[in-house]
Amino acid sequence: ISVSEQWIFLDGEFVKKEDAKISVYDHGFLYGDGVFEGIRVYNGNIYKLDEHLLRLYHSAKSIMLDIPQSKEEMTEIIRQTLQKNKLEDAYIRLVVSRGVGNLGLDPASCANPSIIVIAEELAIYPKEFYEHGLEIVTVATRRNRPDVLSPKVKSLNYLNNILVKMEASLAGVSEALMLNDQGYVAEGSADNIFIIRNGALMTPPGYIGALEGITRQAILEMAADMGYDVREEAFTRHDVYTAEEVFLTGTAAEVIAVVKVDGRIIGDGEPGEETNRLLRAFRQKVVEDGVKVYSDNSRIEIG
Ligand code: PMP
Repeated sequence: ISVSEQWIFLDGEFVKKEDAKISVYDHGFLYGDGVFEGIRVYNGNIYKLDEHLLRLYHSAKSIMLDIPQSKEEMTEIIRQTLQKNKLEDAYIRLVVSRGVGNLGLDPASCANPSIIVIAEELAIYPKEFYEHGLEIVTVATRRNRPDVLSPKVKSLNYLNNILVKMEASLAGVSEALMLNDQGYVAEGSADNIFIIRNGALMTPPGYIGALEGITRQAILEMAADMGYDVREEAFTRHDVYTAEEVFLTGTAAEVIAVVKVDGRIIGDGEPGEETNRLLRAFRQKVVEDGVKVYSDNSRIEIG
């Protein structure tokens, strides 16, 4: 899509991408004060929209940010943004910031939250990553403690994750393993982590400190239905190194195999059979787990 054709929803209206600008006094910009979601659209169906909206409104509640729109109104705004951009497969970035205020920290100076919806074509990991798997490394930066800035709040303050991402890039890899303050495995910079060890499928439980990933939840439910021994259990780097399979989950990445962690080769160094099976099962279900963007008779022609 060329720049001039992309429309952004910004505070009640659609503006062209090049005109989609917010005030330097917006507390989202000044202080990272706000919340967001990354949502995916498959073939005209918004994947797990209700779950994403629930997480958004929970994040907002946690930071005492009142979103003026109801979830139904937000759904309509997202739908319209997709229709306006004629998108059937897309990545949506939904941002609610505290809005424009003065230079003080106190959100009391911010009259209205800013609501931004960006819908664009998806930039996914290259196909080779799925075919051959990722190499990751453990980074020194630890996950925010849940009792400080809870990782369950998907806030605009992503510095913790950005520092992790930079450490990963410096090490020449595209994702990282982030530990919590006690040294237990938490998550990646923007993905949840799963291991298959001694036949059990494990991901860190909520108290360890990670985002409550929508894809994580989908995999937990799907794997249980498929008969896996599914456990939310704390584990260490040792458990990752000695796992049969390791994979990451996230809205953009879906399910992606990890084949090397801190120089240790996982399994036989290729994406594992169960990882591939879960990815296939996930992709088969994405359309049916979605909310329709277009009613059948208004379906747009994609030329
Ligand atoms: N952890 C973090 C820190 C993330 O930013 C994301 C991406 N939103 C995830 C995990 C994966 O969550 P989801 O499956 O909802 O995309």
